[in-house]
Amino acid sequence: MDLLDENTQLRSELEKAQLNSDFAHKAVFKDGMYWLKGDSTPFCQRCWEIDHNIVHLGPAGYGTYYCPEELYQRKIHRK
Ligand SMILES: [Zn+2]
Repeated sequence: MDLLDENTQLRSELEKAQLNSDFAHKAVFKDGMYWLKGDSTPFCQRCWEIDHNIVHLGPAGYGTYYCPEELYQRKIHRK
């Protein structure tokens, strides 16, 4: 890995860390999901707590939501 790649890599890790710390401070846990003020779509509890991934949930109707990441993981793990 050359210096430029390493720099880009470090920068993206730093950006992710800043985003995560921002989310950790601002997100509110309610009804089994995380919410950000001004954002009407909640975030996945599991993705955040297990992987520290900030994943928007998808609407599944009647006030329920599904996690696109978990759907994706299930698909690639299915044989
Ligand atoms: Zn999830």
